[in-house]
Amino acid sequence: MTQDTHAPNDAEARRAVPPVICYPTDTLPAPNMALYQAALAQAEVIKTHIAPPREAAAFHVSKGHFFRILSVGGPQVGDLNLWNAQDLTERFYSGKTRALHGTHLTVGDRMWSSFPNMRPMATIVQDSLAWYGIDRFGGSVHDVIGTRCDPYTGNLLAGSQYHHCCHSNLIRALSDATGLSKDLAETHVHDVLNVFMCTGFTRDTGQYFMKASPVRPGDTLTFFAEMDLLGALSACPGGDCSSEHSSDTAQCHPLQIEVLAPPNEALQGWQPPAPNGYDRSHGR
Ligand SMILES: [Zn+2]
Repeated sequence: MTQDTHAPNDAEARRAVPPVICYPTDTLPAPNMALYQAALAQAEVIKTHIAPPREAAAFHVSKGHFFRILSVGGPQVGDLNLWNAQDLTERFYSGKTRALHGTHLTVGDRMWSSFPNMRPMATIVQDSLAWYGIDRFGGSVHDVIGTRCDPYTGNLLAGSQYHHCCHSNLIRALSDATGLSKDLAETHVHDVLNVFMCTGFTRDTGQYFMKASPVRPGDTLTFFAEMDLLGALSACPGGDCSSEHSSDTAQCHPLQIEVLAPPNEALQGWQPPAPNGYDRSHGR
């Protein structure tokens, strides 16, 4: 779209104004990472789930436990949804998490829940791909800038009727886990954490891009559950997302989810986060 705009004489000076961080996080309640790491070191796997290729798996994690997403079989990205296990209306808020922690998450970052609770649902305690950093294209792993692949966008762009996008996989997994109809389950599926996916925005056009994920079998991303969680993880039809998604073209692999329990005494002093303290009167 073009517009007849004229740059002012001081255009370069305006562009040269340095940015300020929207939400400095130094006043956020800090997670006790040393406590979490010590608890993780003593934790044992109590349950294992598999998200088969082009399918999703749902899983429960009790507050104070951990869950780990593990690459098995071959390079594969996963789309993660989280809900409060007692109240599906409290769910992961990708946009606010992005505003607080940036475009991609790693150790110490938290997955924040939707309004009005806006509290940590899970805290990342281990990330075997933390070495990747930000590459020369501006790409990094575990993003909160994409949404999830879905059949509606595919239909708009290509007229397709494809049923194994992450959006549909998550719907089926949530429906199976809760007994909700697919129509009702769809209302609870939300923007994801793109686990292991390598993404960014192009500098020239600002477009969302993906590239082959650096993930290899054995790579892991581990979370501490701050509340009782229902999760769902889709093994994206894009596989490692090096070429395309929303089709059966890419080579896909399963993803493993492990739930780990630490000994009770390992979390002494830890309290589940309270709902947000705003009084909700919204003025007047
Ligand atoms: Zn996907």
